[in-house]
Amino acid sequence: MARTAIPAPVIQPHHPLRLKIDREALVSNWHWLSRMSGAAVCGAAVKANGYGLGARETVMELSNAGCRDFFVSTWAEAEPLMPWLGGTGLSVLHGLAEEDVAHAAASHARPVLNTPLQVARWREGGRGRPCDVMIDTGMNRLGLSGREAAGGMLEGLMVETLMSHLACADEDIDANRRQLDAFRAVAAAVPARRLSLANSAGICLGADYAFDLTRPGLALYGGIPRPEAEGQIRQVVRIEAQIVQRRRIGAGDAVGYNATFTAGEGMELAILNLGYADGYLRAFSSRGRARIGDAFAPVVGRVSMDLTAIAVDALPELREGDWVELDFSLPSAAAQSALSQYELLTMLGSRYERAWV
Ligand SMILES: *Cc1c(COP(=O)(O)O)cnc(C)c1O
Repeated sequence: MARTAIPAPVIQPHHPLRLKIDREALVSNWHWLSRMSGAAVCGAAVKANGYGLGARETVMELSNAGCRDFFVSTWAEAEPLMPWLGGTGLSVLHGLAEEDVAHAAASHARPVLNTPLQVARWREGGRGRPCDVMIDTGMNRLGLSGREAAGGMLEGLMVETLMSHLACADEDIDANRRQLDAFRAVAAAVPARRLSLANSAGICLGADYAFDLTRPGLALYGGIPRPEAEGQIRQVVRIEAQIVQRRRIGAGDAVGYNATFTAGEGMELAILNLGYADGYLRAFSSRGRARIGDAFAPVVGRVSMDLTAIAVDALPELREGDWVELDFSLPSAAAQSALSQYELLTMLGSRYERAWV
């Protein structure tokens, strides 16, 4: 049967929704994290497509700024970053499934070995190439136990980075110190070229946690993991949506699905080209807000899949076709929505034009 191909558009379509991604802020955040890492080298986690911003662009910007160590989760995430930049390293955090061995052995990226089986696979199929190793020090997510790592299993492997991951670095609790002590004990027993423990929040815990290499993600992209970062980390991502319609409603009129909002008196609405399919989740219903100059325009009623209403009584000049910025400063958006800063970033969908400015 003949298959019909959809012809490519002659004129590129207009995107009524965009992310403005601030290169300078991204680089400035990396420099701050780098300074906070002291003598340690500062890398960058670019998994989940650079936390939703775009992994390729993030790698380009940060490598130009001097970053030499990048982290993704899977080989499928590493692939779109190829051909890889000379002089920089890429680590694949989830290591080596059986299906990954051939690909990994031919790749510039290093697996982070997490299990005895992964270690055996790399010994067998890794052609003597370097690897990283994850140690579990109490999070019980990924990694060899200290006993496994120190028991000879890694002998003969070229371990570039021995690492562990902190479970509670955004809190001030004893668990951080316990993980630090456990990591030091393993590090003393396992030869590796470099040691690495701290994510964004871990960097804020101070020099003890930095070792040779730090691995921030969230704070690069504007997240504030701990109070130490307030006023230092700059907002990187801004959401801008176009107004599809402006309308006036009267007292008693309801707005949106399930009529969760009813106007007490006449009011002005702008309907934005943005919805939960864009990661602006229903958690922002009647709680989020847009930001127009110094004014805020609250979200009214339920966020739909593709549309969101805001109240614009104070903004008579706004009209159909104008662009509106949502308040997406991560700490503030997290407070509005009760979602984590991580979720807010990584849910940003594919309908945005990602404009690096
Ligand atoms: C995601 C991840 C990071 C980065 O963590 P942030 O909290 O985003 O700074 C670092 N290390 C590992 C192992 C990770 O999985």
